[in-house]
Amino acid sequence: MLLNSCIEEGVEYKTISYLNLKKTNHGWTVGSDRGGFKAKILVDATGRNRVVSTFLRIKSIIFDNLICSSFKFNVGLDFDISKILTESTPCGWWFSCSIKGRKQTVSFFTDTDLLKKMGINNLSNLQLEFITEYLAEYLGQANYY
Ligand SMILES: Cc1cc2nc3c(=O)[nH]c(=O)nc-3n(C[C@H](O)[C@H](O)[C@H](O)COP(=O)(O)OP(=O)(O)OC[C@H]3O[C@@H](n4cnc5c(N)ncnc54)[C@H](O)[C@@H]3O)c2cc1C
Repeated sequence: MLLNSCIEEGVEYKTISYLNLKKTNHGWTVGSDRGGFKAKILVDATGRNRVVSTFLRIKSIIFDNLICSSFKFNVGLDFDISKILTESTPCGWWFSCSIKGRKQTVSFFTDTDLLKKMGINNLSNLQLEFITEYLAEYLGQANYY
């Protein structure tokens, strides 16, 4: 969702199928099937995919297995966009806030350990099972159905 929002705002996003990195005295030389460049600093911004760190054989340290499922929708003028919702449940927590353009985002956060204990393998399509009375009331005002 964040990536799509960035692209919507004009960020250029390129996919490559080949990556080559070389450390030089002045920084890095980056090569790819879509061109190359030199850089003083290299940032691995691929999150848990760790594309650059894996390439450089840097060992990862895993602290948790948090996951999240999110969706966004338009809200009418009657919806109070100043409200932020955070609500815990026995198996995770909800978060909702407004984003640009009278849109509302709703996310359910949990850890794969908790889902496994509940015998659940897939978070998608699950949000309805976890919806609480308070969240339902909150979303009810959004009139998004
Ligand atoms: C469920 C959950 C809840 C969290 N809650 C909190 C919190 O409350 N507070 C907090 O401080 N932190 C929280 N975190 C941690 C926080 O989200 C991360 O530390 C942070 O997002 C890491 O940022 P990042 O830019 O390194 O990676 P990411 O945000 O993961 O961004 C990596 C991006 O790279 C893209 N990408 C991956 N591989 C490739 C590829 N091969 N080619 C191109 N693009 C690629 C991905 O699609 C993604 O857009 C939470 C994490 C999770 C999973």
